[in-house]
Amino acid sequence: MNIHSKLPHVGTTIFTIMTALANEHGAINLSQGFPNFDCSDRLKKLVGKFMNKGFNQYAPMAGIPVLRKVLAEKIETLYGFSVDPDAEITITAGATQALYCAISAFVRPDDEVILIEPAYDCYRPAVEVNGGIAVTYEMDAPKFAVDWRLLERLISWRTRMIVVNTPHNPTGKIFKKEDWQQLQRIAEDRDILVLCDEAYEHLVFDGKQHESLLSYPKVYSRGLAAFSFGKTLHTTGWKLGCLVAPPELTREFRKVHQFNVFSVNTPMQHAVAEFFQTPEEYLQLNDFFQKKRNFFLSAIEGSAFKPIHSEGTYFQMLDYSAISDEADTDFVKRLTIEHGVAAIPVSAFYSSHRDAKIIRLCFAKTEETLEKAGALLRKIK
Ligand code: PMP
Ligand code: GLN
Repeated sequence: MNIHSKLPHVGTTIFTIMTALANEHGAINLSQGFPNFDCSDRLKKLVGKFMNKGFNQYAPMAGIPVLRKVLAEKIETLYGFSVDPDAEITITAGATQALYCAISAFVRPDDEVILIEPAYDCYRPAVEVNGGIAVTYEMDAPKFAVDWRLLERLISWRTRMIVVNTPHNPTGKIFKKEDWQQLQRIAEDRDILVLCDEAYEHLVFDGKQHESLLSYPKVYSRGLAAFSFGKTLHTTGWKLGCLVAPPELTREFRKVHQFNVFSVNTPMQHAVAEFFQTPEEYLQLNDFFQKKRNFFLSAIEGSAFKPIHSEGTYFQMLDYSAISDEADTDFVKRLTIEHGVAAIPVSAFYSSHRDAKIIRLCFAKTEETLEKAGALLRKIK
């Protein structure tokens, strides 16, 4: 049989490949982004409580009302913006499913979607499987900032959506007010949607604020924001998150969501709803991960790697150009096999295969792991 692949260029994700290589060689895995410490005991007990109480059947399609209400309150407190939990919040199977359904609901064949690279890997396939055309704006090291006037030149009458991500994976850069002002200027008066991936909303460092789409009502009027509870609760394996969008966009989003997954894990939704009623649980994450970033930076001090400032997320980029002129894809393999530390090559986030001699490492690890990894990285000259 002749299979005409809809995604001929898609292979296994770099996160899966590097984790497998790390496991095969017993290397410290700083590649795929996930914590190597457990989530809160209280949270686990809450899941057990709701399972034992019999909350084990389908949740409502949009998510359980109590969780959506808690999220609306959280949004109001954090971003000073009021959303209707019934009409504007949908609980999803992680940010990935939120992003996929948001793209599927709005992108038609031959529509153009602007992606800003380096970009997280799930946007492009979602555009292409729907027949859309990904148009790429490339950010350069070490600033990794968007020149909005240049980005604007990529807009055509076919442009349907711009996908943005703050705090940004893999660079750790965050949007400033000016970024949103520029985006507003560009999207206003044009029929363009803005999809914002805010998976790391609670991981912003050095006293800075997360600039959410939800703080910019004019952009929000044409916007959709995706969130990941995996990052907020140290539970990446639970695959829970949400999509927040104005009622008319949410209605279209749910048409896809209800046939894509219908609804997501019931007892965990109840547990998260109760857990989020203690805001300290997520408000301390900025400090918690800032300490980890700083700990990792001191652990590699004196090494030949040059850190590129991380303002958020749980990733640190390192420039290795003083060590080797190998391609980053080769360098990460050698780093894993010969030196015992696995990382992600930043070229994997570019479709043009550009090689900036930069790798991404995840510092959501125990101090013991970061210390050991630091010692190994310091030895590489
Ligand atoms: N967006 C970004 C930027 C991510 O790094 C990730 C993965 N951590 C996701 C989305 C996917 O999140 P989830 O695991 O909740 O699907
Ligand atoms: N978001 C995680 C990362 O950037 C990977 C999640 C996955 O493996 N799909 O490392």
